[in-house]
Amino acid sequence: MPYRLLRFGLSRKHPEPRMFTRHDSLKAGYDVVIIGAGGHGLAAAYYLARDHGIRNVAVLEKGYLGGGNTGRNTTIVRSNYLYPESARLYDFSLQLYEGLSRALNFNIMLSQRGLVMLAHSRHDLDAMSRWANAMRMNGIAAELLTREQVGALAPALDLSPRTRLPVLGGFTQRRAGTARHDAVAWGYARAASALGVDIIQNCEVTGFIQENGRVAGVNTNRGRIRAERVGIAAAGHSSVLAKLAGFRLPVTSYALQAMVSEPIKPILDTVILSPGTGAYVSQSDKGEIVMGAMLDLFPSYAQRGSFAVKQAVIAATLALFPAFSRLNLMRQWAGIVDVVHDSSPILGPTPIANLYINCGWGTGGFKAIPVGGWTLAHVLATGRSHPLAEPFQLERFISGRLIDEAAASGIAH
Ligand SMILES: Cc1cc2nc3c(=O)[nH]c(=O)nc-3n(C[C@H](O)[C@H](O)[C@H](O)COP(=O)(O)OP(=O)(O)OC[C@H]3O[C@@H](n4cnc5c(N)ncnc54)[C@H](O)[C@@H]3O)c2cc1C
Repeated sequence: MPYRLLRFGLSRKHPEPRMFTRHDSLKAGYDVVIIGAGGHGLAAAYYLARDHGIRNVAVLEKGYLGGGNTGRNTTIVRSNYLYPESARLYDFSLQLYEGLSRALNFNIMLSQRGLVMLAHSRHDLDAMSRWANAMRMNGIAAELLTREQVGALAPALDLSPRTRLPVLGGFTQRRAGTARHDAVAWGYARAASALGVDIIQNCEVTGFIQENGRVAGVNTNRGRIRAERVGIAAAGHSSVLAKLAGFRLPVTSYALQAMVSEPIKPILDTVILSPGTGAYVSQSDKGEIVMGAMLDLFPSYAQRGSFAVKQAVIAATLALFPAFSRLNLMRQWAGIVDVVHDSSPILGPTPIANLYINCGWGTGGFKAIPVGGWTLAHVLATGRSHPLAEPFQLERFISGRLIDEAAASGIAH
């Protein structure tokens, strides 16, 4: 490897290394078709090919690879959930992230710089000690922090008691952090493609072929494609696809927005979340201050985001980090996220035989890409939900066994 790198560096021709070694063309039929080339769809294709030996697979994407929420998020990875089912799911995902650069032979720039949740009131402190203790009981390390300890981790924070958002303390998960979102999508895509998966961009699924109550393929803007099994991993458009297949999902689609400042020298080497305000802040490897917002609380398919939410997030960020008021804002954008009433994902079978779904990650599915792909691949290959995904099946809305992370941990992202 070092020799190849040296030869590449010294070569006068500088041959560009190719991302993909194959040119994909659409076939008339596949063993498995996956709808959506975001992280979850691409990871599922990769694990199907690598772990289940199913390589006659197509991932169909109406836009471009990673152009949905996977390429729009604020890149935070963590596993600080409250219920054991969620802790198992998200921590397995973080473990997969920890080995992903090596598994894909592609640097996903995982940076376990830790994450600090801020408590702004006595009530926040009580809720966070319950939360951190629940994590420990689930085997996930978490530490409660005093105000001074928070200050040591993020010296740029305003810790004066007279600020609009006083910091009384908080807690940290040190294994949390960030990963490069495009690299995750492209790394999975490259590895899946090398195993024989077709990744077809500009191919929109417009309907489902159903025979004898089973799904038998999809209709697309490029024609009919037959498939033994079909997986939906379409995030904010999941309920649109469910409607095309003839069933309903308890999912509402909202815009979620984020923004970045101009790049500056390193000032913040952890991720700061202020659940009370919905604002969260980190610094990218390029030096930009990355700011995330709470949901625009009205359903929408417009990838914009409202001004009121933007204003609230910037105001909260500047109250926490007054020095950032001198920065120029460079870019703002939004994605359409699929929010379930209990803030937990929907994984596994649908009411249509041979049609499976992975959706409902809402504001927090980037961290779950490895496990989302892993469990979708399992159900597509075997027809049975993976044990990690079992509690998250659509069926929980009939049994009433909801996993209400929104009410429990107050997690927004
Ligand atoms: C601003 C923002 C910040 C976020 N921050 C974080 C964060 O810090 N940490 C975190 O864990 N999560 C975060 N998230 C959430 C996270 O990005 C998503 O949950 C995750 O990326 C979902 O991945 P996916 O593969 O399911 O969906 P996507 O990446 O959205 O992929 C779905 C794909 O399906 C395609 N598609 C839809 N309909 C069709 C069709 N009919 N035919 C073919 N293709 C179709 C879409 O074009 C899209 O490319 C954030 C999201 C946003 C918007």
